[in-house]
Amino acid sequence: MSQTITVKVKLLPTKEQTSILTAMGKEYISTMNTLVSEMVAEKKSTKKTTKDVPAHLPSAVKNQAIQDAKSVFQKVKKSKYTMIPILKKPVCVWNNQNYSLDSSYINLPLMMDGKAKKVPIRALLVDKHNRTFDLLKHQLGTLRITKKSNKWIAQISVTIPRSEETGTKTMGVDLGLKVPAVAVTEDEKVRFFGNGRQNKYVRRMFKSKRKKLGKLKKLNAIRNLDDKEQRYMKDQDHKVSRAIINFAKENKISVIRLEQLANIRQTARTSRKNEKNLHNWSFYRLSQFIEYKANLAGIKVEYVNPAYTSQTCPKCSAKNKAQDRKYTCECGFQKHRDLVGAMNIRYAPVIDGHSQSA
Ligand SMILES: [Zn+2]
Repeated sequence: MSQTITVKVKLLPTKEQTSILTAMGKEYISTMNTLVSEMVAEKKSTKKTTKDVPAHLPSAVKNQAIQDAKSVFQKVKKSKYTMIPILKKPVCVWNNQNYSLDSSYINLPLMMDGKAKKVPIRALLVDKHNRTFDLLKHQLGTLRITKKSNKWIAQISVTIPRSEETGTKTMGVDLGLKVPAVAVTEDEKVRFFGNGRQNKYVRRMFKSKRKKLGKLKKLNAIRNLDDKEQRYMKDQDHKVSRAIINFAKENKISVIRLEQLANIRQTARTSRKNEKNLHNWSFYRLSQFIEYKANLAGIKVEYVNPAYTSQTCPKCSAKNKAQDRKYTCECGFQKHRDLVGAMNIRYAPVIDGHSQSA
């Protein structure tokens, strides 16, 4: 058993490499678009090889564009030609035979003066915990390079074997404010993680310091304070996620289920205007940390529909609203309300694609 995940790595290309990557990204998608429209016109897959395609790309990359175009065409055909996508976002793809990694560079062929030449592009492959680099020791698949909000990103597909030790059990994890995380395993083992009260206290302390500085108009000091608060929260999330994965390993868990967060696109990073967004963003970050560490441990993460997970009675399926921190049902079921969420998340319907996007 194995699973494939995408590892994102920030690239630091030189000026020259930047303009080459930009040109290659455009060339790649225009090649694909041309090939797809040809196949659509003929209503059959192309027999073209790299020799028949005039694109200004290294032949390995050109070949990848042909393969990608063919698989797009298969989807178009499947839709009975009702859905014909036109790619707009520049991207360039290399297969695993054509690039290699070392601790700070990705080596790959680029078009230099009309010829394909293997060059190193600086990449942030090693963070202080070596996490990215550890992941990349597994079997590598394709490498996609694209630009996201003005940053160059390499998306590397990695196949990770699932260790036999992880067993076959499912665990639900509910994230919250008062209790940062609650986990319940299939066989009813329960654990609470983090310290919500302490977090609240720290946040309030930062808030009052900010207010004082605000009156004195000390903007730099406020910014430093914001960074400090973010670092504190991030550190807490690392601790909580690490403890969750350790608990999962102890209990031979193979699947962790989390709630899919609503509208994370709109509420992520960019807008921290109100409390709710801030919480959504922090839940999102904790989910990402859990997913990342779970993958490293060979544990799969699935996202479930959050509807009614906090209201449904795990015993009889009746819907009740929790009073304060206690959840009580007519059937006699009674538990801590956050526990109810985690119990329901274990068996809630899994959302397709099982990964949330930001
Ligand atoms: Zn009940």
